[in-house]
Amino acid sequence: MELPGRNRPSLEGEHFQAIVIGGGINGVAIARECARAGRRTLLVEQHDFAAGTTSRSTRIIHGGLRYLEHAELGLVRESLQERRSLLRERPHLVQPIHFLLALDEKSRRSVLSVRAGLWLYRRMGGAHLGVDSSKNDRYKLERLLDAGRRWSIFSFEDAQCEFPERLVAEWLVEAIEAGAVARNYTQVLAVDVRHGRAKAVLMRDELSGKEERVEANWIINATGPWADRMCQRSRIDTKGPMVGGVRGSHIVLPRFPGAPDAAVFTEAVDQRPIFVIPWNDQILVGTTEVPDHGDPSKTVPSPEEIEYLLRSLLRLFPRVKLSARDIRYAFAGVRPLPFSPKTSPSAVSRKHYLHDHADDGAAHMISVIGGKLTTAAALARECMSKIGVTPRAQKKLAMIAANSLDPHLDHWVLQIANAGGISETSASGIVEWHGKRSTVIARMALSSAELRAPLCQHSEHIVAEAVDAFANEYAVTLADVLLRRVPVALGACWSPACSRAAAARIGTVMDWTDHQVAVELEAFETERTAFLRQPGRSDVMLEAAAD
Ligand SMILES: Cc1cc2nc3c(=O)[nH]c(=O)nc-3n(C[C@H](O)[C@H](O)[C@H](O)COP(=O)(O)OP(=O)(O)OC[C@H]3O[C@@H](n4cnc5c(N)ncnc54)[C@H](O)[C@@H]3O)c2cc1C
Repeated sequence: MELPGRNRPSLEGEHFQAIVIGGGINGVAIARECARAGRRTLLVEQHDFAAGTTSRSTRIIHGGLRYLEHAELGLVRESLQERRSLLRERPHLVQPIHFLLALDEKSRRSVLSVRAGLWLYRRMGGAHLGVDSSKNDRYKLERLLDAGRRWSIFSFEDAQCEFPERLVAEWLVEAIEAGAVARNYTQVLAVDVRHGRAKAVLMRDELSGKEERVEANWIINATGPWADRMCQRSRIDTKGPMVGGVRGSHIVLPRFPGAPDAAVFTEAVDQRPIFVIPWNDQILVGTTEVPDHGDPSKTVPSPEEIEYLLRSLLRLFPRVKLSARDIRYAFAGVRPLPFSPKTSPSAVSRKHYLHDHADDGAAHMISVIGGKLTTAAALARECMSKIGVTPRAQKKLAMIAANSLDPHLDHWVLQIANAGGISETSASGIVEWHGKRSTVIARMALSSAELRAPLCQHSEHIVAEAVDAFANEYAVTLADVLLRRVPVALGACWSPACSRAAAARIGTVMDWTDHQVAVELEAFETERTAFLRQPGRSDVMLEAAAD
């Protein structure tokens, strides 16, 4: 089998019109836009695509209600526009979700200002996403909330992308189809700047250990929270930090009896905004805001953050029987917010900006600072105009996706089930994650029982999806597959036994030796436990919070 992620010809001495460093949502969006405009583009990622901040977010496709609080009307307008596009173009990945904003009498936000904000948000286009808010979400929430406090509850609509990893995988494939060259597991060691101009990158292929020098007209530093490090290692003096890294942590718990189906936007024990969101058949609670200047690859939630999130949840829902022992895992990411030391993290603008390094002695290099999942495509278009490229209109692609998936989803699931000889439950899971590619996966599934096998005994997802990830989505390791391309390992009941079953089943069709299976499995478990932290059982603070 051809494995494009592993079989990579040398790029030494090649020339590209643009090199994009960083394969998070922003880097992939930029590479896709640039390649579609007909420019020879190289995308370089040191680990795997979407393994950075992008897979550590709260996964909301914000219409921007929160930004109204800081009067960022332009950002709200842009977010609403981008949310509309994502809902239309990726209905399998981005879905409307009902939000309930719950504030008690001690809230710093007045009922009047919230009403005014919601009125404005609706006027600006924040409503009518087709969310069924007539369901008894509000009643369910009222039953759960602390009865000793006086609550005001407001309803609004927003959207959720449960798996931004999948959105990145789809955009990556589109970038490659448009001609981009993509390399994960390749670290840019430095940008080569000569005579005041960024000329090339020196990069190391982490799979072969080989170093290569590749030239470009433009170099885009889309390394998110690593952006300053990229400049430092390239000796580009930006006269101060560009990014003020702020860590955000989440905890993931099982859905408890009576759990709301709506997402809840409320206040934590210290009145900071937090979300309690139904996610991946579990409950996601987040997030925190802690300044973090360390290596973003090593960021983890602290015991204090975990305790704070759990305490906030239990204060909100005092009758719910959850304790620290129920936390399935916790994860953290570093927001690449614009450096703004005098502003509190909540108040720092979520609007991105593009830093042109011409004044730093490195013309033709741009750093991307900040941004949201929601606005990545808009950021990519802005980046194109900064480097003098006219983005190409993409009407056709949007129509294919919307027509084939949205109105006929059930019919489509049936077709996939028949085409692949798989159950409707499996077909439905495949369509939700792979959209248009589901037909390719279904055809592959038809060819053998091993390919139709579930990844583990609990999963509706099948081995053919993993094989497609290796063959077409540049997955290189088992962890790339199980954490990002077919992210079953983020699921409610994933266990070491599931990991072993998945490794063995995938290994059989990939012709891995027993040794290879063992190596992949060990590397996967190491990455999974580093990313999805199990809070320590001996953590006294956590036990106290739960009592
Ligand atoms: C806790 C939290 C919650 C969030 N919630 C939301 C939300 O609900 N909705 C929303 O829209 N946004 C949310 N965000 C924001 C959003 O996740 C980020 O803005 C976005 O993911 C940033 O993407 P990026 O591509 O810029 O960075 P990243 O995803 O971090 O990508 C940068 C990539 O660069 C790579 N890289 C670094 N150095 C090098 C090098 N030398 N060579 C090659 N590659 C390199 C890294 O490995 C990384 O993969 C949240 C962020 C956080 C932290």
